[in-house]
Amino acid sequence: MKTYLSEIFSSVQGEGPYVGERHLFVRFCGCHRDCIFCDTNTERTETVLIEYEPGSGNFEQVVNPLTSEQLVEIIRKVDSRKTNRRISLTGGAPLLQAHYLRELLPLLDGDGHSIYLETAGDLPQQLKSIIEWIDIVAMDVKLESVTHEKSTFPAHWQFLKICRDFDVEVFCKLVLSAETHEGELMEAAKGIKKAGGEDTLVIIQPMTKAARTDAVPTGAQLLRWQDKVASVLPNVRVIPQTHKMMEML
Ligand code: SF4
Repeated sequence: MKTYLSEIFSSVQGEGPYVGERHLFVRFCGCHRDCIFCDTNTERTETVLIEYEPGSGNFEQVVNPLTSEQLVEIIRKVDSRKTNRRISLTGGAPLLQAHYLRELLPLLDGDGHSIYLETAGDLPQQLKSIIEWIDIVAMDVKLESVTHEKSTFPAHWQFLKICRDFDVEVFCKLVLSAETHEGELMEAAKGIKKAGGEDTLVIIQPMTKAARTDAVPTGAQLLRWQDKVASVLPNVRVIPQTHKMMEML
């Protein structure tokens, strides 16, 4: 089986509770969403860009699509110094390639990495098909007032429940902009509590200015929303996209 990838590189994890760890990123092409704040080109590309020397900006190009065996070989070469703690599957939407992942992930078993899935958090059946191979799920809970897309809360709650049922580590990321609707935010907090339990870790990620929106939230808004979410889910942190501050991939 083959798939389209856009980039493979080693860098620091810039988001969420594992910020600062060294991860090997595998970025898949394609996404079923169209968040207004998206900063990623999700189109299929003719070649995948591979950075073997971290931070060098020198990319080798390999023609897409890649077999799982080809990808394993590239991952092992990028990680030749064994400095990457986890493999971060990102996108786009990696779960759109669940069949491919079912073939790939067993091949990586035994290499000593844990598998960290970055996901829009709305494809529960696809998650279920690969969850046995996943160690950490970083799932989005998307707010209509922020993404400018139709709400997908029921899919998020199903998704979160699967993580809990299979006892897989999970946290929920709420990207918030200045346009965040407080009522919708509280609905999200209550939904997370119901599906994942009161101890679910929530990361409020302030939206970063993007090509289609500059509605960046203020510090006062973030503090107010953290207080409000904490009244439902006590474990809530505000963490921005730190890799962008450091101008890293
Ligand atoms: S889910 Fe992620 S990759 Fe897809 S459009 Fe939204 S921000 Fe972009």
